Amino acid sequence: MQTEQALKNRSNSCCEFCTSSNNLAVYPVPPTSDLSAQQCIYLCDICLTQVEGNTELDLNHWRCLNDSMWNQEPPVQVMSYRMLHKLSSESWAQDALEMIYMEDEVKTWAEQGIAAAEREGPTRDSNGAELNDGDDVTLVKDLKVKGANFTAKQGTLVRGISLTDNPEHIEGKVNGTRIVLVSAYLKKA
Ligand SMILES: [Zn+2]
Repeated sequence: MQTEQALKNRSNSCCEFCTSSNNLAVYPVPPTSDLSAQQCIYLCDICLTQVEGNTELDLNHWRCLNDSMWNQEPPVQVMSYRMLHKLSSESWAQDALEMIYMEDEVKTWAEQGIAAAEREGPTRDSNGAELNDGDDVTLVKDLKVKGANFTAKQGTLVRGISLTDNPEHIEGKVNGTRIVLVSAYLKKA
């Protein structure tokens, strides 16, 4: 993989956050349009699992951001900034955020990711009420159900919905068919 070779050269085969040389992998910095080295960073498995949110953040480990934030490479700056932002309850991380320097366009890129993460808030119905697994909802408008060839009428009760990864969508059974519904077209029953 060309990108990986480019990242190896760029990083001297070290994690671009903590400089470990164990189990390095390519991490594409979202949102990515291509998988070139300019949009990827090279991370060890310890950094990667925490970046991906698969485990609790080990605060001491992330002191390495104090160094990585000065890296010349924009994708490393972007991810350092985002991680510092996640850690901003720590005073050292706040200090680092105040010191970090990025070109305007790099900063815009860094903040895009943060905005996207914060948008993934709770699932809300048409009135802004929070929806949870198992709630009953009614449709606030007629919905043509794609693929199932029927229209779910306004006022239809959908019992025991399930949330999805996307706060804009829930799943529920209408006419015995399990379908995805748009949260904004629903009202908590
Ligand atoms: Zn690392």
